[in-house]
Amino acid sequence: MGTEDNRQRWWGRFSHRHAVLAGLIACGALLMGVMLPSSEVEARRTLALELPFTELPAETIEPATLAEPDLTPQIQWQQATVRGGDSLFEIFKRSGIALSDLPVLLKNPEARSLKTIHPGDTLHYEVDADGLLQRLRIDPSPLQSLTFLRNDSGFQTEVTTRVPEVRLAQRQATIDSSLFAAGQAEGMSQSMLLELADIFSGVVDFVLDVRKGDQFGLVYEEEFVDGQRLGNGRILAAYFINQGETHSAYLFTDANGQREYFNEEGVSMRKAFLRAPLDFTRVSSGFNPRRLHPVLKTVRPHNGIDYAAPRGTPVYAAGDGRVMEAGYSKANGNYVFIQHGPKYITKYLHLHKRTVKTGQRVNQRQVIGQVGSTGYATGPHLHYEFLVSGVHRNPRTIINELPKARTLTGAELAQFTESTGGMRLQLASLMRTDIQLASRDNNPGAL
Ligand SMILES: [Zn+2]
Repeated sequence: MGTEDNRQRWWGRFSHRHAVLAGLIACGALLMGVMLPSSEVEARRTLALELPFTELPAETIEPATLAEPDLTPQIQWQQATVRGGDSLFEIFKRSGIALSDLPVLLKNPEARSLKTIHPGDTLHYEVDADGLLQRLRIDPSPLQSLTFLRNDSGFQTEVTTRVPEVRLAQRQATIDSSLFAAGQAEGMSQSMLLELADIFSGVVDFVLDVRKGDQFGLVYEEEFVDGQRLGNGRILAAYFINQGETHSAYLFTDANGQREYFNEEGVSMRKAFLRAPLDFTRVSSGFNPRRLHPVLKTVRPHNGIDYAAPRGTPVYAAGDGRVMEAGYSKANGNYVFIQHGPKYITKYLHLHKRTVKTGQRVNQRQVIGQVGSTGYATGPHLHYEFLVSGVHRNPRTIINELPKARTLTGAELAQFTESTGGMRLQLASLMRTDIQLASRDNNPGAL
């Protein structure tokens, strides 16, 4: 899980970082263009671009980084593995690299990448007969290399990136105790399951609605470099069968280049309101069909739903809106009221902490507080209310009556239907096997 997280964090930073580095290189190249004869610039650039991945098949290298073939002899890279407690000084000393190069190298703005190396990382380097450093390369990730290349005034840098090979994969699971237990037993990562839950968060209440026997599955991208699995890419299609009702979602890039999930009819999965306005992953008891009112210890009609959840569980704004009131009262404890357009108000009571202020704009899924037991509450829970034109409505059912989410029409709908055709077939066959497997599990005698 940790490495998956790291990768994702890295992916997040990647494009920005890449852009910055590319910018620096472009500036460096420009400066050199001014100072050096162009043939020399060409030679240096070609050399640098060829260095890091001479061992790789050409098709996995971005077209932009492909250099013209040249007759430069192969570079003899040497390797130094970073040990615990190492400093660059230690590594240079141990590797026989001239220590006089170190301050020069560290003057390069990109040298900060060298300060974040960890034990186990590998530095690739090449020295000349005098031990002077010619090139130094680090690979911050399997997809990226940073090379320091000696020039007349110090070291210049080159970044090389690679595009991973993408393969499609599919998985399915049947819920026994929880979404996470079921998914992880079938090899789905936690981040993938969170993404899946996010896709269906407008149609399934993952705190109150999920039942034993619910089924889900997904078709997703896996990324490989040199045949080694790097991590997961996007979820392309997914289904969730909740208490016999099938929801499916397909990733589609609309005419504006926005990527979004739509159901089979082209209705966006992104709804105006979340089904459950809190982090369901923190709620362990997902299957209590009749919730007892925490104060009166009896099932009674009241103005909202109670979500029993551990103190500190993040509470989300159910939809985009503006905080009408965030305050404290004897009965409500810490509370937040949110106005969503002229008609709708959502209320969140007994919060342990409020993290928004009156008048503030909030986005759907923005954390507005934490579950607590302030006010008239015996145990930690979120009391959630939904008002339409000033009238309390049942948050569980009112959502079905709200205006429909964005729906694809015309040419866009036609394009959606055509481009998701293959995915629909794949999802349908995945669903069929899933249902067969489940019925076999329930009737051991059956085929
Ligand atoms: Zn209540």
